[in-house]
Amino acid sequence: MSEALLTKASARETKQPTMRAAVVHDFAEPLAIDEVPRPVPGPDDVVVRIEASGLCHTDIHAAHGDWPVKPHPPFTPGHEAVGIVERAGSRVSAVAVGDRVAIPWLGYACGHCDHCVAGWETLCEAQRNTGYSIDGGFAEYVKADGRFVVKVPAGIDPAEAAPLTCAGVTTYKAVKVSGARPSDTVAVFGIGGLGHLALQYARIAGARVVAVDLVDEKLALARELGAEATVNAADEDPVRVLGGLGGVDVAIATAVSPRAFEQAYGALKRGGTLVFVGLPADNYIQLPIFETVLNGITVVGSIVGTRLDLREVFELHAAGMTRVVYEERALAEVNEAIADVEAGRVPARLVLRP
Ligand SMILES: [Zn+2]
Ligand SMILES: [Zn+2]
Repeated sequence: MSEALLTKASARETKQPTMRAAVVHDFAEPLAIDEVPRPVPGPDDVVVRIEASGLCHTDIHAAHGDWPVKPHPPFTPGHEAVGIVERAGSRVSAVAVGDRVAIPWLGYACGHCDHCVAGWETLCEAQRNTGYSIDGGFAEYVKADGRFVVKVPAGIDPAEAAPLTCAGVTTYKAVKVSGARPSDTVAVFGIGGLGHLALQYARIAGARVVAVDLVDEKLALARELGAEATVNAADEDPVRVLGGLGGVDVAIATAVSPRAFEQAYGALKRGGTLVFVGLPADNYIQLPIFETVLNGITVVGSIVGTRLDLREVFELHAAGMTRVVYEERALAEVNEAIADVEAGRVPARLVLRP
């Protein structure tokens, strides 16, 4: 290339290209579709051209500033992003340009604290979170640390990989920490983006599954996905129904109402385990001390999953063992998509296409 051409090329590069992104400017306002500079990778980063981005309840809580630790506007939500690596920094070795990768909630962990070394990088205190403390996937491009993206195996549709990147890995990990085994009965409370996958992982672990929700269509979906029994908590008290069956070994609470968490607790048999997964905006429930002690109940919180967990989730999906239920929307319709999720008008997951 001649020197003149080189100069021309670098001149073009200095005029930074732009992209469209859904940006939160104010917790009380809808997201704006803005034209913003396209991200430039640092030495450890990749820049990924997004193909699909799942809409998780956490994104909605982020956009509304619902939680005790709030993100700082302006920011772009989205932590179920899947796309193709278009640029890679000089130190990136785990993935290469052209790879299809997933960009999960755990955007960075330090790698050397006790939690990271013990294989619990999801508990790292230095972690950074995609779509919360760093800009996420509701955009045409996203910048991510190349060490924390996970390759998506060939043959997985990006629109299916997206919900697996949070809803999938989160519920897969929840089933892992629940210790569910063959012959156990697992009750899944809330059959949405998380719950419809939780019940499939419980089945893969060999357990029998009971699904609890307030909407008949979601319970029909649960049966289709392998739930043996269902309880509509709007019509019947799940504690009474499940107690009548002798109680459940494991309850996984993915619903966004504290009431469902209390019911999940009440449905346990002696020695049972309740896993907290959903994150309701209303933060507290009441649990009895006496019964927890006497009945040997375990209550455990489970937050997303590690990169290894996500690899396993993709392996199971590539092997045809899970089904992702979703509907696609255009990125520009993100506010309508949020309204539909809040009104419970969606099948399980919405996936945004830039
Ligand atoms: Zn999520
Ligand atoms: Zn760490």
